[in-house]
Amino acid sequence: VFISLILSLGVLAQESKTKPDVDMDKFITELMGKMTLEEKIGQLHQISGGDVVSGELSSEGNKVAQQIRKGGVGSMLNAKGVEKVKALQDVAMKESRLKIPLMFAMDVIHGYETAFPVPLAMASTWNLEQIEAMARTAAIEASADGVCWTFSPMVDITRDPRWGRIVEGAGEDPFLGGEIAKAMVKGYQGEPGYATNTQIMACVKHFALYGAPDAGRDYHTVDMSRLRMYNDYFNPYKAAVEAGAETVMSSFNEVDNIPATANKWLLDDVLRKQWGFEGLVVTDYASINDLVRHGIGDPVSTTIRALEAGTDIDMEAYAYHYMLPEAVKTGKVSIKLIDQACRRVLEAKYKLGLFENPYKYCDVTRPSKDFFTKEHRAKARQAAGESFVLLKNENNLLPLKKNSKIAVIGPHGNNRPMMLGPWFYPHDIYRAATVVEGLKEVSGGQAEILYARGCQPFESEEYARRVYFGKEFEKDNRSDEEILTEALDVAGKADIVVATLGESTEMSGESSSRSNLDLPKPQQELLKALVATGKPIVLVLFTGRPLTINWEKKNLSAILNVWFGGTEAAYAIGDVLFGDVNPSGKLTSSWPQNVGQLPLYYNYKNTGKPMDKWFQKFRSGYLDVSNEPLFPFGYGLSYTRFDYGDVKLSANKMNEKGRLTATVTVTNSGDRDGYEVVQLYIRDVAASIIRPLKELKGFQKVFIKAGQSVDIDFEIIPELLKFYNYDLNYVCEPGDFEVMIGCNCEQLKSAKFTLVESM
Ligand code: BGC
Repeated sequence: VFISLILSLGVLAQESKTKPDVDMDKFITELMGKMTLEEKIGQLHQISGGDVVSGELSSEGNKVAQQIRKGGVGSMLNAKGVEKVKALQDVAMKESRLKIPLMFAMDVIHGYETAFPVPLAMASTWNLEQIEAMARTAAIEASADGVCWTFSPMVDITRDPRWGRIVEGAGEDPFLGGEIAKAMVKGYQGEPGYATNTQIMACVKHFALYGAPDAGRDYHTVDMSRLRMYNDYFNPYKAAVEAGAETVMSSFNEVDNIPATANKWLLDDVLRKQWGFEGLVVTDYASINDLVRHGIGDPVSTTIRALEAGTDIDMEAYAYHYMLPEAVKTGKVSIKLIDQACRRVLEAKYKLGLFENPYKYCDVTRPSKDFFTKEHRAKARQAAGESFVLLKNENNLLPLKKNSKIAVIGPHGNNRPMMLGPWFYPHDIYRAATVVEGLKEVSGGQAEILYARGCQPFESEEYARRVYFGKEFEKDNRSDEEILTEALDVAGKADIVVATLGESTEMSGESSSRSNLDLPKPQQELLKALVATGKPIVLVLFTGRPLTINWEKKNLSAILNVWFGGTEAAYAIGDVLFGDVNPSGKLTSSWPQNVGQLPLYYNYKNTGKPMDKWFQKFRSGYLDVSNEPLFPFGYGLSYTRFDYGDVKLSANKMNEKGRLTATVTVTNSGDRDGYEVVQLYIRDVAASIIRPLKELKGFQKVFIKAGQSVDIDFEIIPELLKFYNYDLNYVCEPGDFEVMIGCNCEQLKSAKFTLVESM
């Protein structure tokens, strides 16, 4: 019975996959038969609902309502609030000629009402289930507020933390980035078919290479070989497409000398033809307008070029809206291209189920049930605890005893919005607990928590104004000396100092590149003064990117990197500082010693010259700093210790159809249970093109009880040995391979095998 049930479910799944497509094509063809040129172009026009006031939509001169009524808008972004979404959908459904429902999109990046850690932090969990659960939770909350489409995941690989948007991605590795991209798409979209109103469309962004601007300056020139694109940067986008991502966002930057939004090779040859993407492409914010500034033509020709390249929806540039009607009428662009893009938009609406029920995402009773629930908060707290990376813990300073007298010192210790990180716009930004509150709560009232601000977060008001782009920011009006004296006084009364310092939320994110990755000067001075008191100090570090904390690494006993951990981060900080949770996060980007080393990444290629001998003249290195990172990719400590045995291979030869198993024994030699992220790297020793010295090809996060040993197996299959060769064919080449397994990209045990030609 069970088997036949499974079989019939399989048949049903098959049917529901193929059947609606036939119906969909027919439905859309009929609908498009009734649409005017302007109505078709309307579907390609996405506008902002940020300033819309629901009550004003019915007034005569309301511009947004007028456009919707004419069928001139296909989708909206940033219309926050389910009541507003419903009011806008009402205009489309009750007052427009063809009653085509609108889609509502939003940047739901790391939660919607319940903030999870920022994406770079989520990546540091190396826990795909946790990441999927984050996306699922975010989808539930966002869909309760009218959102059916999120502009996430951002999967741009970056090797340069000067770029502020490193915070939004998974770090520097294409394999890990691909796994995370798949988990997020699955979390947002759920099972194919959008059967429930909690499933929303994902949008993979920013296609492509947005994370590789020269010198880490946002929107700057990107220039790289196609081999590097395919081998080092494309995998996460491709993985997301293969996982069924419904939409893709073109990036602001150029790719191979042509802006992505107008790049036919990228959007058509690579995305659609090579990867089989069938969904829709939306531009990044007004990026069609940027095409003129990029210098590739006038407004009309660049708009046409974007459409011809395969860009379906114009986000906020109003370029399609103003330019395309005339361009079609004068024969400059074919109606077929408009029809193709319009069809893709209508298909997305059909798949979401909006033609069946335009109000599917407009249930106004949902927010009170689905926002910031106990269950969502528990998930966020768990994720935050797992995302923290213990960078140093000399003499087991951590965990702290619950009955300690703790001085929390630093601007981040008592500030709610600072916990959240960029790209989070809840209805209430003051929901997050503060570190002070978190420590009190987790210690069950046993700890005595004192607080002092310690310093200003920024070196100067001018810098702060730049960080906040002219917005108001909180300022302490006391003199620097007064603020410091208070801090030293508070530190003097405590057993231990928990210094809560780092970047403020606004220092990372879009348009927040930095040329200096040190802690802000006043924070450095505060730390020096605190160290001089001789009190033990734990640095609880807030950041959206790797920082060059050389002095701090040398002079402090313990550093816990907590990123921006979200609404529940304060409790999670308590969980980890007091040892209820054993830290297990690992870095997913290399932390540099100084910015002169950038770009810095672990999967570099052999240079042909020696790299490590200081006394040698013709080596690939610097005179003033080693090539080493401050902390390597994959690094992170635990309160326990994991020891690795040798790597054993099930065979020392395999062919292109074969597989072998690599096994390593990992022992928890400490006295606490804990999670360890066991990492597998492979090196292709000699190939037809130069290959990296190592590449991540697998990982497992395992729970090991104190004193126990676990055998960890990795299957080595030919797929893991493949790369794009000089002709951009995806191949594996016979020869020797090195298999390396360990706790980070530097501490590895290795073994060798040979890939032989099949007989
Ligand atoms: C960002 C995108 C975002 C879009 C819409 C742009 O400035 O680059 O990541 O999705 O705005 O808010």
